[in-house]
Amino acid sequence: MKILLSNDDGYQAPGIIALYEAIKDLGEVEVVAPEHNNSAKSNALTLHSPLYVHQAGNGFRYVNGTPADCVHVALTGLLGYRPDMVVSGINNGANMGDDTIYSGTVGAAMEGYLFGIPAIAFSQTQKGWAHIEAAGRKARDLVQQMLAQQLHKELPWLLNVNIPNLPYEELKSFKVCRLGRRHAAEKVVAQPSPHGDMMYWIGGAGPAKDGADGTDFHATAQGHVSVTPLKVDLTDHDGLKDWAAQLAGRDKAGS
Ligand code: MN
Repeated sequence: MKILLSNDDGYQAPGIIALYEAIKDLGEVEVVAPEHNNSAKSNALTLHSPLYVHQAGNGFRYVNGTPADCVHVALTGLLGYRPDMVVSGINNGANMGDDTIYSGTVGAAMEGYLFGIPAIAFSQTQKGWAHIEAAGRKARDLVQQMLAQQLHKELPWLLNVNIPNLPYEELKSFKVCRLGRRHAAEKVVAQPSPHGDMMYWIGGAGPAKDGADGTDFHATAQGHVSVTPLKVDLTDHDGLKDWAAQLAGRDKAGS
């Protein structure tokens, strides 16, 4: 069993160390992760500057690039073999609802999925790493179950997992649920720079707008570990017919 492990918080983050320690005996686990914090880099690839790979004392390899760069480089040459699974995290903070669009943790896992490899993105719901070892154990439970059920040999799939910051004994079962929605993000923070320019800092994410029963927000608030299967097709399938009718109507009006 070969597992590629990455993240977006960087190769020195407590989350990737905890996840590595938790799953290292499940097979051959190789770490290829960003050198620096690359949170919110989504699926970005670095196309206009070279990437360098270095190895840390603990064997982790790190790249001066994004999470997707790391997985891309690993899968297209660095590893020299095709891993059975790509695992990302554990992220410092929730990746629920709209977060998944921006998340580098999800981006790393999605890069594996786009190469046809089953992938899981793990996040803790609160920042600060409280109970990170419990989260590692819980992540291990899921990876182990996927391997035991041979699910990594099925069609590729992509799971987004959020783990509440609780002791292992207090974590409730895995709960399969849909993504919720967040309110729009908080206001940008503007400050004058020492040189007289205005600097803008992106504000925090908004609170849950749709945290109804059946969402990741709801499940994790109850102490469950949320598991959301993701797909990459952004097509509004429900809207296809309506849009076709709208455009046909326009054509008629215009002719
Ligand atoms: Mn992060």
